Amino acid sequence: ASLEAKVEERTAALRAAQNRLIQSEKLAVIGQLASSLAHELNNPLQAIESGLGLVMTQLNNAAPEVRSDLTIIRQELERIQTIFRQMLDFYRPVSHEHLPLDVNAICEGVRILMRKRLQDAGITLRLQLADHLPTPCGDSNQIKQVLLNLMLNAAEAARREAAHIQLTTAAQDQMVIITLADNGAGISPEHLPRLFEPLFTTKLRGLGLGLAISREIIERHGGSIGVESVLGAGTTFQIKLPVKEVCDRE
Ligand code: ADP
Repeated sequence: ASLEAKVEERTAALRAAQNRLIQSEKLAVIGQLASSLAHELNNPLQAIESGLGLVMTQLNNAAPEVRSDLTIIRQELERIQTIFRQMLDFYRPVSHEHLPLDVNAICEGVRILMRKRLQDAGITLRLQLADHLPTPCGDSNQIKQVLLNLMLNAAEAARREAAHIQLTTAAQDQMVIITLADNGAGISPEHLPRLFEPLFTTKLRGLGLGLAISREIIERHGGSIGVESVLGAGTTFQIKLPVKEVCDRE
């Protein structure tokens, strides 16, 4: 019986590893596709954008209905460009820093970036930062990007009244733990296992890349990211980053 249990355990672990491999392959394929597409489409897109700008200037105050139609076209163009940028930002072979990370400072930076947006949406953000936090190693911009992703999702899931988000840092067992908890819509149990899959989204205009990219970044830093959620009550993401004495590359 114990042998059987062992086989079962190993099979499950293998299946999980295989699944992860498929997910990161998927992410890599999306990346390659995105960069070649963006390359091909960027020039005509820019031509359309500047043509549109010219037409709008020429129209000036004439034909307000046409102008408002053109404004919609411009907004949609901007959306396409944002999608490309999001995909390329991640896949472009940028240099990855490997420096001591001041996680509390990163959290403060995220608060500043999100302040206006949260204020406008009536969401309270609470920071609870640990004193004397040890330092993991990595790229502060990438960790900031992850926290922004999580924060934007939390803001989108926020309830109408008494919405709040709590960002906490702590140290435990040679790990720095960052927790981001919201009291928003929550996630249904059948969606939960698919959350980090590339292209998984429940939003009408979602891309489904935020969490997949976030997990990739955290794992590249040697860490892990997990989620717990109760539908109708809220969601908590937890990031663990290993603490290093010296930031040298392995
Ligand atoms: P996107 O935001 O484009 O949908 P993500 O990968 O960032 O892509 O998120 C995937 C899905 O996870 C979202 O569509 C949403 O259903 C769910 N989700 C993520 N964060 C939260 C949250 N804080 N509260 C509720 N649902 C969430």
